[in-house]
Amino acid sequence: MIHIQSLIDDAKCFETVRALRWPDGILCPACNSSWITRQGCDDTQPERQRYLCKSCERRFDDLTDTIFAGHHQPLRVWILCLYFMGLNLSNHQIAAELDLHPSDVHQMTCQLRQGIVVKKPTPTLRDEVECDEVYIIAGHKGQPDAVVKQGRRGRRRRLKGQRGRGTLAKEKPPIFGMIQRGGDVVIRMLENVQQRTIKPLIQATIAPGTCVYTDEYDIYSRLEPWGYAHESVCHSRGEYARDDDGDGFHEVHVNTMEGFWSLRRSWLRPHRGISQDNLPLYLGFFEFVHNMRRRGKALLEALLELLLT
Ligand SMILES: [Zn+2]
Repeated sequence: MIHIQSLIDDAKCFETVRALRWPDGILCPACNSSWITRQGCDDTQPERQRYLCKSCERRFDDLTDTIFAGHHQPLRVWILCLYFMGLNLSNHQIAAELDLHPSDVHQMTCQLRQGIVVKKPTPTLRDEVECDEVYIIAGHKGQPDAVVKQGRRGRRRRLKGQRGRGTLAKEKPPIFGMIQRGGDVVIRMLENVQQRTIKPLIQATIAPGTCVYTDEYDIYSRLEPWGYAHESVCHSRGEYARDDDGDGFHEVHVNTMEGFWSLRRSWLRPHRGISQDNLPLYLGFFEFVHNMRRRGKALLEALLELLLT
């Protein structure tokens, strides 16, 4: 059987990290000085270069202060794991490809997702922006503590979620989405969808004066006092796109956001039973992947660059 891990060259992995982390030459992670001397290699990993900063006398190496420092898995395993995450493989699939234990992979993918979510830029949306919300069924699977804390018994049957509009407490957390037509998307899990929960999110994400398109749900009724132009399409009247100014373009719709939701559904499909605790990480990772508009090895480069700089 082919052992994928051993086909990858350690030296090339470290070379790649150095090139992405320090495109203009090695810089001290503490004081940013370029007055650096090499200080041999790591005792157990000969490809991992050590350095000394002549300005502040700090010792560091290729991975110091990065998410890849201080782990027992070799760098090549982390990079392969990230590549497979970009291809949207589940933890089980990654474990099988890399001959690792699924719980080790679970830990690695959690850390990598966390790293991406913390470092990813938050875009500002402008021009024409659509807002919409969906509800995802997500419980406390794999977290018996959380179940006990809520004072109820563990679950035996599959989660179905309660009827009606979802909330975090009903195990049907709302996902709020904002997408600029032809541009970036921002998605967040919320405790519930109310004016007071969406207002700070909208104001932090959408530039004032932007034209915001929504459905007729009353949480959107205060968009104008919040500083936006607002157009809503009335789904309950069977209306899906409206041509208000009569120029033949049906601009009053939320089809862009709905298209994104269907992508999100297929993106999450391989990852069965994501818990509420992990859902924001999956959503944040997907948001970054979507906004990068790159796939495969080009996406891997973008992910590594984000984690290393
Ligand atoms: Zn320094």
